[in-house]
Amino acid sequence: MNRKESEDKVVYSWGTAHRYYPASVYYRRLFGERVQKLSLDAGFTCPNRDGTVGRGGCTYCNNDAFNPSYCRPEKPVSQQLTEGMAFHKNRYRRASRYLAYFQAYTNTYAPLKVLKEKYEEALSTEGVTGVIISTRPDCVDKEILDYLEELSHRVFVGLEYGIESCYDRTLVRVNRGHTFEVSIRAVKETAGRGLPVGAHLILGLPGESREEMLAEAEILSELPLDVLKLHQLQIIKHTAMANEYAGHPELFHLFTWEQYRDLVIDFLERLRPDIAVERLVSEVPPRFLAAPGFGRRRTDVLMQDILKRMEERDTWQGKEYGR
Ligand code: SF4
Repeated sequence: MNRKESEDKVVYSWGTAHRYYPASVYYRRLFGERVQKLSLDAGFTCPNRDGTVGRGGCTYCNNDAFNPSYCRPEKPVSQQLTEGMAFHKNRYRRASRYLAYFQAYTNTYAPLKVLKEKYEEALSTEGVTGVIISTRPDCVDKEILDYLEELSHRVFVGLEYGIESCYDRTLVRVNRGHTFEVSIRAVKETAGRGLPVGAHLILGLPGESREEMLAEAEILSELPLDVLKLHQLQIIKHTAMANEYAGHPELFHLFTWEQYRDLVIDFLERLRPDIAVERLVSEVPPRFLAAPGFGRRRTDVLMQDILKRMEERDTWQGKEYGR
């Protein structure tokens, strides 16, 4: 099957300018213009930290490593959004519409009344046209999904689930506190209500072989997902995994950039072509790293390198899908 034939088969053909379906194109199709996601730390906690599901959290988790500087839970949601708009305006092309991205910790983990207040505060901020809510798949229930479905009749509402791995033995090993079956159920129930669903996956978790990671592309392609975010395992300071790594580095396989780049491309080849890809790699600031990263290369430079390599290999997302 050549590339044109492959694209003819997909629900959304993303055009010849890209070798994979970028989330920027997905959002532009939904909104008719560029929209900017603005990260938030709305002060939620996590049931895998407070003892409800577990204690200590997922072994790789240190939210500080990912939070932009303007996101501080002591600031009101509206202030974080306003500061986020200014932050992005100074650095990137200006967007006129924004999505409030409830990112830090577990953003459906509070009484419904509190959730409503936080989401509504975001939506009442000028320029904000919708919300994307990042959460654990075991932290949504009928009451929350009913409310979000109702809200989606008025504004854009997307859910983003931390799936992280399709293998229960890995989920146990990193202390996720839920199974893959729980992720499947949350994704299906959310999509069944017409809400866009995103998923987050980490490549390189300990104990997973390259073949198992690639098989995850096929497993996730079976789910009604709209958006996927991938990144490589990074071992972050002040985490349980950093301690584990210090004691037994031989239990971890940290990719070189070239190894990871080719893994990601192989993964994309197996991924359903109408799943938009929001991220393929991420680099926390070096001061957070407890094990070597890819060096100080910027994420956009790494992305360019992935695209260049895809050109060299003359490959594209979905090339091997369904084979
Ligand atoms: S990764 Fe998410 S679920 Fe896991 S401990 Fe961190 S905030 Fe909680």
